[in-house]
Amino acid sequence: MSLYCGIACRKKSFWCYRLLSTYVTKTRYLFELKEDDDACKTAQQTGAFYLFHSLAPLLQKSEQRYQAPQYSLLELERLLAKFGQDTQRIEDSVLIGCSKQHEAWFALDLGLNSSSSLNASLQKAEMEIELKGSFTDLRKALFQLNTKDASLLTTAQALLRWHDAHQFCSRSGQPTKKNVAGSKRVCPSSKIIYYPQMAPVVITLVSDGTRCLLARQSSFPKGMYSALAGFCDIGKRFRACTDAQRTQGLNNCRFLFCCCCALSLKHTVPYQVK
Ligand SMILES: [Zn+2]
Repeated sequence: MSLYCGIACRKKSFWCYRLLSTYVTKTRYLFELKEDDDACKTAQQTGAFYLFHSLAPLLQKSEQRYQAPQYSLLELERLLAKFGQDTQRIEDSVLIGCSKQHEAWFALDLGLNSSSSLNASLQKAEMEIELKGSFTDLRKALFQLNTKDASLLTTAQALLRWHDAHQFCSRSGQPTKKNVAGSKRVCPSSKIIYYPQMAPVVITLVSDGTRCLLARQSSFPKGMYSALAGFCDIGKRFRACTDAQRTQGLNNCRFLFCCCCALSLKHTVPYQVK
């Protein structure tokens, strides 16, 4: 028995080590790509690209699930050439992650006005026909994607939105320039470096132990509910935010739903406030 336990423990610690080791090498690789423009350009040669149009990801539907197709750099260059665009547009892409084998993943929005090219945005309908998919509202498709794609596309959308909204320096008014990975923008005039901002959000699951309180907005897809959530103001404590949301949620929501069944809340509840 003790021999069996010993082997099991060693196996467990071996897999823990492997997982940790993979995580560390991946994190180091991504850090290198963010800091080194040449390394990131090299990674694009063998990387995969996810496409967006005006912040909506290109998705292909099969039965009731969505899939996010990936394109190689070569395929992307061919596509841009077909639509009369220059390949300079690829400079607008942002790094969103990498595989265990260090295949880098990028996202590129072909609908937003390009900062690196004179080309206007590409026509959505023509591209959808060519790519056999549709540029879909991410919020509506989120729960019909696999966990990996949902996570990558959410990161991509937030980063693409940030770049689109931060093309000029707030101090000098001069155009800012993104690095190849898209992890920052720099103002050549005032030398200020801008990093993507995060907006802290607090989400609360109100529960009496057996039931929980959920709410929905009219813009949510049918059948979708969420725990009460909202943005955290500067200087406000998390606890104060959760109290405010509970009060606001109860006052503003048009429809509340009491649930006593086991709902999958893993995507909407990062932690519980007790
Ligand atoms: Zn500036």
